[in-house]
Amino acid sequence: MQPHENFRQVRMVIAKVTSSCNLRCKYCCTDAVPLTQPGATMTMATHKHAASLLIGNTESEEVQWIFHGGEPMLLPIAWYEEAIEHCITVAEANPRLKRLMIGMQSNLTRLTPEYLALIKKYRIQVGSSLDGPPHLSDAYRQGGKRVEENIELLAREGAPAGVIALVNKNTIRHLDEVVDYFDKNGFGVTFNATCPTGRGTSLEDLTGEELCAAKSAVLARADKSGNLRLLSPDLTKQIFYFHTGERDQTERTCHNYNCGAGVSLIGMDPNGDLWPCGRSSDAGMGRFGNVNDPDTLADYPATLRKFHEKDLWYARCFGCQARLICMFGCTAFDKESIPTREMDCRATKRLYQYFCGHRDLIARLFERLQIDIQKMKQEVAIKKPPPPFLRLHTGCASCAPSVAAGGIPATIELSAKAGTATGAAPVVFRPRFTVAHAEVT
Ligand code: SF4
Ligand code: SF4
Repeated sequence: MQPHENFRQVRMVIAKVTSSCNLRCKYCCTDAVPLTQPGATMTMATHKHAASLLIGNTESEEVQWIFHGGEPMLLPIAWYEEAIEHCITVAEANPRLKRLMIGMQSNLTRLTPEYLALIKKYRIQVGSSLDGPPHLSDAYRQGGKRVEENIELLAREGAPAGVIALVNKNTIRHLDEVVDYFDKNGFGVTFNATCPTGRGTSLEDLTGEELCAAKSAVLARADKSGNLRLLSPDLTKQIFYFHTGERDQTERTCHNYNCGAGVSLIGMDPNGDLWPCGRSSDAGMGRFGNVNDPDTLADYPATLRKFHEKDLWYARCFGCQARLICMFGCTAFDKESIPTREMDCRATKRLYQYFCGHRDLIARLFERLQIDIQKMKQEVAIKKPPPPFLRLHTGCASCAPSVAAGGIPATIELSAKAGTATGAAPVVFRPRFTVAHAEVT
């Protein structure tokens, strides 16, 4: 197989442009290095090779190119101008590609007017992290007040950021306050559990019961307040699976038994090494080779197979009722951590019980999501006829409707549900998420 053939299905690239960061969050999955350290930031030549290889060879109709780190706002504006322009040039030359979306996962403590202008110019979809009100978020993170202010600023400027909130041993004790905070502020939020990786290995793990309690509290609040921005892509999908009883097991997203790592999603570190995804590079699992020398990518298929191999632990999933809504953990972070798998598994089984005991609540949320998605689809149709192509179309809220939590937008598609008892075929809007990547910054 030629190296470029490995990238046919790529729809998202996590480009870690620096391994340096201005913060030292307690649970970060990586250890930042000084900005001055050789190799701490990606060279423009490496970035251009990567864009040409990945954007140039995909046969997907859309690609999300996410600048990640470390903290990506440590790099100069001029670097991004040149990097993004090159991405656009390559995308325009790829006849199959219809849309390029630029994203950036940032801690948002270094947002300047110049960065704001860059975000608006290229309609960069920003994702950030805040675990709740600043005084709670700062227990494990830093700069909460500034992050909050900048999230609000971006919203005022028409470039709303998605927020990842990590559920940890501190915030779980203040769950009502955390959920209340996100509900009242209206941030699009994804709640993730802290993982025992990187600096987080020294912290006490969440239990499955705690993770389930957090998710059920979010569901109950979204039902009560009608605020669907509290529902992250994984919860939205779980509502959909449970309510319809249907699930497409062939999808390759973070939420499936076989995730999209190395297939629809690729990670790249600052020196140009390619990995199955951003998390796998943090975990040091599955290095494919380097974009600067495509010959190093010769073992790509074998490396990918090995990365996705499942061990006997998963035999328990066959016959498990909760399988209908299970997200199956994270291939990179769970592979070598049985306690993490157990925690996820236990949380899922309890959540399934919660769904079974609250069918009316799930049905109400399902209906609301349907109405919401339909409304957004109509708005898109009115505001944005199919665009010609890229140069001024690198992604925006109205073109990437739906839950933009975690900075990772989702697309939607319309499909008719198969025949019913009455012969009618009600239209069901299925949330079709592109790779829903959920990383810790
Ligand atoms: S809940 Fe556990 S046993 Fe059931 S499908 Fe998920 S991981 Fe497998
Ligand atoms: S983050 Fe985890 S589940 Fe998602 S693509 Fe990477 S390895 Fe797979």
